[in-house]
Amino acid sequence: MTFKQRHRIDEKTGCWIWLGTIAPNGYGHKCINGKVTTAHRAYYIYFRGPVQAGSHIDHRCRNTRCVNPDHLEEVTPSENLRRGRQGKLSADDVATIRSRYAAGGTTYRKLAAEFGISNMHVSNIINLLKNRDVKLP
Ligand SMILES: [Zn+2]
Repeated sequence: MTFKQRHRIDEKTGCWIWLGTIAPNGYGHKCINGKVTTAHRAYYIYFRGPVQAGSHIDHRCRNTRCVNPDHLEEVTPSENLRRGRQGKLSADDVATIRSRYAAGGTTYRKLAAEFGISNMHVSNIINLLKNRDVKLP
């Protein structure tokens, strides 16, 4: 398969910063053989081999733009749920964020910090535009 690497290395953290497209959820996007996937998942599979269907590729460094396979870890769907991964919210969390914001006295930034997600993610949730992750094959 064709695989073009497109990143720069952050010398402080060792993160490989993806330089391609970034989706609204903060993850890099990559096109492989005509299929769009997340950049970090593509790197992981390229360097480490196939992952179990339904698995999530987690960032140990918490940098969603990082594509360094050494910072990535395969997480099975059940493990992913158990961990309450950053950026993954339950329906309850989403409802809480909306009602807290509607009640006033808080900001996107405060809610983002509290729930461990990006300001953009909070904004999307509140504006009902997009509150789910990009679906991956
Ligand atoms: Zn990293």
